[in-house]
Amino acid sequence: NTPLHELDPDIAAAVDAELERQQSTLEMIASENFAPVAVMEAQGTVLTNKYAEGYPGRRYYGGCEHVDVAERIAIERVKELFGAEYANVQPHSGASANQAALFALAQPGDTILGLDLAHGGHLTHGMRLNFSGKQFQVVPYHVDTETGLVDMAEVERLAKEHRPKVIIAGWSAYPRRLDFAEFRRIADEVEAYLWVDMAHFAGLVAAGLHPNPVPYADVVTSTTHKTLGGPRGGIILAKQAFAKKLNSSVFPGFQGGPLEHVIAAKAVSFKVAASAEFKERQQRTLDGARILAERLTAPDAREAGVNVLSGGTDVHLILVDLRESALDGQQAEDRLHEVGITVNRNAVPNDPRPPMVTSGLRIGTPALATRGFTAEDFAEVADVIAETLKPSYEAEALKARVKALADKHPLYPGLGK
Ligand code: PLP
Repeated sequence: NTPLHELDPDIAAAVDAELERQQSTLEMIASENFAPVAVMEAQGTVLTNKYAEGYPGRRYYGGCEHVDVAERIAIERVKELFGAEYANVQPHSGASANQAALFALAQPGDTILGLDLAHGGHLTHGMRLNFSGKQFQVVPYHVDTETGLVDMAEVERLAKEHRPKVIIAGWSAYPRRLDFAEFRRIADEVEAYLWVDMAHFAGLVAAGLHPNPVPYADVVTSTTHKTLGGPRGGIILAKQAFAKKLNSSVFPGFQGGPLEHVIAAKAVSFKVAASAEFKERQQRTLDGARILAERLTAPDAREAGVNVLSGGTDVHLILVDLRESALDGQQAEDRLHEVGITVNRNAVPNDPRPPMVTSGLRIGTPALATRGFTAEDFAEVADVIAETLKPSYEAEALKARVKALADKHPLYPGLGK
């Protein structure tokens, strides 16, 4: 029972340094969040020791009576949270959930229609080096380059032309809401399945601040660690008719033993997500993103060549357009990192620069909202970002403003030094 710091000081030091990084900087990667201590506690339990291939009540191992309780609670809570008929809480990650979902709905060689990666889609929606792009015929749809919105006329035209087996609605970098009813109508017209990947916006849905795709889609997948604020992992929700296929696609199709410690942590996070406090936090997440969009479309930001794709946001992130700025995406990411703000560079549609450089940034508010940031704090963050992206930026003064914000909202106060 030697503690980590004694048994393995090298790993302990890396963990401590990461905690200190999270505490002292402003985390604005749109796909990240801070899991509650109780979620991390559940993940660090003896449930990590248990093999439990199969599903509650139908396991291939003995001794599953307690993990069955935890997994059943997770399933019931997430069904209730999103109004779903069926849930599978075993996928190890969002990509694993997507792989299991796609192979339950289609066969290799079938055609799938998904948002182009370069226009905000995810790797698992048909990128050529991913399983989805290697094993399926991919027809990508796009955003309109003028409006920045998904071109639903193109979705309909491509659906009618290619008759896909599956239409995928979901994104990793898109600042607006999708029209699930319209996706459903198009899917019905061409007899395709509709799969919604709500990984990014699931927390907003749980809080009732974003339309719920569950009533419209055949299958909905999600991660549990983005806006939803739980442990790193995936889930699948669906109509009951897909239950058997999805269960066998996850196990034994793609996975072996489920991570019951993570499933327990998912259950805890679903409980949190049903609370009034969680809804209030998601509202601050949305308010923060809107404030960022306003500040980064203000005249002085525009003069520095900074703009915001689609002119604003309805969700927890904004996409900054740097095509007219002196900075490319890499330089802007590095400069924000220098003052203590973590974001990621992101391609803009039809980006003139290569994917490792890009001409944009994706900036999200979930982690700071979890940390307690208010509208006033987000206004200060937005000002700091706008100043940092100007040619005349003053690093030392900006670092001090970032530090003041981080100090105002301590993260994991009981942990670390
Ligand atoms: N789906 C979407 C829309 C995502 O944005 C992501 C992650 O960024 C995933 C799936 C994959 O999740 P994971 O990284 O857990 O595999």
